[in-house]
Parts: sequence; structure tokens; C-alpha cells
Amino acid sequence: MASEGSAAVTVVADPRLRGYEFGPSHPFQVSSRWLAVRLLEEEGFFIGRGAGERLELAEVPMATRAELLRFHLEEYLDRVDRAGDGDGRGFLDRGDTPAFPGCYGAASRVAGATLSALGVVLDSVGRRAFQPAGGLHHAHPGRASGFCIFNDVALAIATAIGPRREPRVAYIDIDAHHGDGVMYGFYDDGRVLDIDFHQDGRTLFPGTGAIEETGRGDGAGTKVNIPLPPGAGDRTFETLFLRVVPSLLRSFRPHAIVLQCGVDAHRGDGLAQLEWTPRSYELAVTTLAHLSDELCSGRLLVTGGGGYNAASVSRVLGRVPSWLVGEHPPPERTLPASWRREFEGVTGGTSPSDCTVLAVGPAERDAVSDRLLQRLSAVLGRSFPGG
Ligand SMILES: [Zn+2]
Repeated sequence: MASEGSAAVTVVADPRLRGYEFGPSHPFQVSSRWLAVRLLEEEGFFIGRGAGERLELAEVPMATRAELLRFHLEEYLDRVDRAGDGDGRGFLDRGDTPAFPGCYGAASRVAGATLSALGVVLDSVGRRAFQPAGGLHHAHPGRASGFCIFNDVALAIATAIGPRREPRVAYIDIDAHHGDGVMYGFYDDGRVLDIDFHQDGRTLFPGTGAIEETGRGDGAGTKVNIPLPPGAGDRTFETLFLRVVPSLLRSFRPHAIVLQCGVDAHRGDGLAQLEWTPRSYELAVTTLAHLSDELCSGRLLVTGGGGYNAASVSRVLGRVPSWLVGEHPPPERTLPASWRREFEGVTGGTSPSDCTVLAVGPAERDAVSDRLLQRLSAVLGRSFPGG
């Protein structure tokens, strides 16, 4: 069994993933995810240390049609394929997710990369995997939504509980938006525990993820939603995460864990209004790494997700692999000059000089977690003791 300090991580670093691109004025920029990979390279994460390994090029295929059909409908695959033929104009949904030339192949590559990362996790003991360009959690079986064409995390879950025959998978989603494609995709399925922290749907797309949505049929009680009010910061997230996640995972006893680690709950994001700093992400990744060691031989797959501020996305995702192997680089460490020049070339903005982010501070009040925990206890019929 892996333990902190001895765990290893595979990072999917295939430059072809940069093809998932809606254009320069679209909020979703795959370049922010790629800058995270470049930060790892520039800081020497993969060199001569044994804990980090890249997965790229020949090893990262596009998802096959048969693999995509594990979650998506045939007619939808045909529609995406046709939309990406020729000049690839128009939208795949009602106006958020544009088609582009070759969009079927680009989205299949993202899905294939996540499935490759899942394979690494399931085929080895104590090796975790990270797919920074994945986490497209809004796509539904028959439609695109919210910048997501194919739902790579849902495909990973379907693959793990289907052909791979893992009896139970835990999915934790900390993106600022509710992961509706995943939750409704497995709403009746008791093999999938889904715990989703997000900005309250009454204030943010896609509007779903109320506490009362807890699953149905065999899935009753396995879907757990924690909607946060705008402005909630590290302290609120930390309290709720530590009270809810370890307790539910220990009861559920998953055979693998998937974390969707979107970075749009970070303060200063362009689309959401939460106030987290890197501290929240470090807590989530580190806690799940320990729980995966305790419960499922270290089987933990982490993907990226949303995130619309290049500085936040690249710095947080660029630290995830370190946290996965039990390392905690000091935020004050100066970022490499070569990476800062690249950041400025790619984004046209000023590069941060290190990974520090001002927190709202000790004065941040956590006025909501007690109330949310009471409501959660009532709908799930269980308590979440503190400490
Ligand atoms: Zn999001």
C-alpha cells in the first residue's frame, strides 16, 4: 500500500490535448491547463525523482466510439461528428459550447486521456494519475453543455464500474459549478457515490445541485450536494469537506476515487463568485490521497475542470502532482523566469511571481457550514460529527 512520500503520480502531458480550443475570446482556455504542465516541466518535477512520470504521445489515444458509447448516445456522437466537419460553425448547445473544425476528435482525445489515466490507476498499486485537461462534467449523454462536449469523468466512472468491474467508485467534484452531467448520469446507480461542492445553483450555472437531490432507486442516498453561497472561502470549504467527505467515503468503501478539481472556485475567477485560495485545493487533494491509501490501495484519479483565470488555474493545477505524492512546496517559492515569460506570451497578462494568494484572512466568517450540515443530515438521515 502506498503512503505519503512513497506514492507516485502519472501526469497526462500530451500536447495534442491543446486541440480542445473554442477560440481566443472564449472563456475556456486549454492553454491555462497546458501552462500547468509546463510549470511541472520547468520546475523539474519529472526529472530524476521517481515519483512523477509523464504520459504522452503514443500512449494517449483518442477514446474509441465504443468507449464513448459507455456514456453517450449514438445520435449525439453523430451530431458532434457532423458539426466538426468542414468549417465547424454554430453551437453544440444553446450558445455556450461552439462547434469547431475537428471538435469530435479533439473531444475524443480529452476523453481518451482521462481513460488512459484511469487505466494507470486501476492497473497499478499506489500510482495516482492526473489529467489536467479533463473534468468536462456538464456534458450529458445526448447533449453538450457548459463548454463540455464529451463527459470524460462520467466515461471514466462508467468504465470503472462497467468493463473494469470495480464494484464502487466515489466521485468528488469541487468545481464551482455543479457537475450535473455526472450526477444525473448515475442518479439511479448505487455503485457511484457523488459528493459535489459548488456555488449555489440559484446563483450560478447550471442551476442544479440542491441539497435535496440525493439520488433515486438503487442510487438513493448516494448523491450528496453541498451548495455554497457566493463569497464562501477556505474556512467554510475546509469545515464542510472534513466533516462530510471522510465519513461518507469510509461508509461507502470505494474501490477507486475520482476527483474533479476545477479551479473556478478560486478567488478572482471570471465566472464564479467563491473565494477559495490554493489552500482549499491542497486540503482536498491531500485528504483524498490519504483516504485512497486507507480505502482503495491508493487508487485516485484527479482531473482538472473549469477555471477562467489563467494565473489561478496554472498555479493550482501545477501543484496537484506534488500534493498527490505528499510534497508541499512553499507558496513563496519564486516561479521559474522561463515559465513566467511563457505565461505572459500565452496569456498577454502579467505573470504571478510565486504561488501566494491573499486569503480573505482569519476574519473570514464561516456562517453557513452548521446550517448546511444540519440540512444535509436531515436529507441523508445521518450525522456528521465534528473533530
Ligand atoms: Zn466550473
